[in-house]
Amino acid sequence: MSDADPCDGCGSHVSGALARTVRITVDGSEVDSQRLCPNCFAGWIERYRTEMTSGRSGDDESGIIVD
Ligand SMILES: [Zn+2]
Repeated sequence: MSDADPCDGCGSHVSGALARTVRITVDGSEVDSQRLCPNCFAGWIERYRTEMTSGRSGDDESGIIVD
């Protein structure tokens, strides 16, 4: 991974120090991972929490891991 890979959300380059890598897991398996700039990360987390709290219940094996 280089120091200036593009953000998966908006496509702008983001330095490694600022980037956040989010991994989405379902039933203990990683199903998606995204490298995001701080702005996209904040929006992504908000969307994720909204979806998790509105549509699902009792699914303890799914979640996200943030590096
Ligand atoms: Zn972005």
